[in-house]
Parts: sequence; C-alpha cells; structure tokens
Amino acid sequence: MKKPVNFSAEYAATLARTAVSAPPSTPPHVLVVEDELKTRDSLAEGLQMEAWTVSTASTGNEAVDLIDHATFDLVVLDWMLPDRDGIDVLRHVRQRGNQTPVLMLTARVAVDDRIAGLESGADDYLPKPFAFAELLARCRALLRRPVLSTSHFLRCGDLQLDTRARVAVRAGQAIPLTPREVDILEYLLRYQGQIVTREMLERDVWKQAHRFTSLDNVIDVQIMRLRRKVDGEGAERLIFTLRGLGYRLGREPE
Ligand code: CA
Repeated sequence: MKKPVNFSAEYAATLARTAVSAPPSTPPHVLVVEDELKTRDSLAEGLQMEAWTVSTASTGNEAVDLIDHATFDLVVLDWMLPDRDGIDVLRHVRQRGNQTPVLMLTARVAVDDRIAGLESGADDYLPKPFAFAELLARCRALLRRPVLSTSHFLRCGDLQLDTRARVAVRAGQAIPLTPREVDILEYLLRYQGQIVTREMLERDVWKQAHRFTSLDNVIDVQIMRLRRKVDGEGAERLIFTLRGLGYRLGREPE
C-alpha cells in the first residue's frame, strides 16, 4: 500500500528541483476560422505581415479537425459558420481540456450572445465590423497572457503533479517516477488537451533539438513507461498516443 503524499512546504523544499522551463518563444501560430473568403484572406494576410504563422479553416468541422491535430497559440473564431457554429467548436475544444486562447468574432451584438460566448470558454470577443488594428491588439493581448498554467500544482482528473516537490499523485496514491518521467508528465500536463509532438519533447524536455539521430524510440519507450505508471490498471486513461502525430494527455470527452 503506497502512502498518500503530504505536500508540506518542507517536503516541497527538500525535493524541489528546477521545473521544466517554458517553451522557447517562436512566432505565434494562429488559426483563423472564418467562412467568408474575403475576410478570411485579409485576416490571414494581415497576421502574416506580423510574421505570424497562419492556418485557416472555413467551416466548424474543419476547425475542430485542425485543432485536434495541431497545436496553436491562438484561435480567431467566427461565430457564424456554415456547419457547426463557433460556440459549438469552442465547446468541443474546451471539453478536451484544450486551453488555447480563443478570440470570437461575431456580427451579433446582443449582450446575451456575448455572455454565451464567454461562458463557453472564449477569452475575448470582437464584434464585426472591426478595424484590423483592433483585432491585432486583442490577439497580442491574448498571446501575452500566460497560456500555460503557472501554478505549481497541475491537475487532470484525479491525477495531480506538484512541480516543485516533483511528486505525482493519482487518486491519492503517490506514483513513483524518475526525474525524466516527471519532466515529461509536467510537459504533457501543461499542454493538456493538446498534441505534444516528439519534436516538442526533444526540444523542450530533452533539450536536444538538432541531433543527427532521432530520439523517437527513446521518447516512445519513456512515454510507454510513464503511461504504465500513470494509467495503471482500472484507472481512466489519460495519456494517448496519436499515430503519426505524437501524444495527448487529457480526459476524453464523454
Ligand atoms: Ca461567418
């Protein structure tokens, strides 16, 4: 029987080690979701002028597919889309635990709509028509916000990690992890609900971005061991392998 861990300050201080550093700053990758071709193109062009990386989607389903298979720093999401609307896209994304900042665009001006948007997990809201400078300012403000949780307690379901004490606990039971496994788990938890590629792990956890030989096998083995410990028998599965993409930690939507 494993003993439950007591997160006292002394315990944390004794075990504290440098946490995984924040990912390096690269140009933001923004997803623009808008069905109107002219608006979509001009938004994409404007953001590209800022040297940002821009992807676009013209339907809600396309947006969901992209968000499920890639990691973005920001999503500019139109409310009115031909298939599922922006709110529905947003709900889907948040249900997966994905906390990517979302700026909603809409022609709707009613306060109720605005509240509905924010309650569904939008971070900001911009009524149409708007000046590009205004959109850019809102985007910048959202990108400046710490997207990744800065708390030293990271949680997903009944799994929690104290990043200072470097202790992981699932359903009240401590999980014995190696220092490397703690690094990986912290990284997966900070990117909860999003895809973490092997390249990201190589760069930010192994800190070896430009190797001649790939670390893929080493990473796969480490994740397999980590999963065996974290997602033990009878526990809800939290760490998923996405073939050809990488890994995702999060609860599956019901
Ligand atoms: Ca629209």
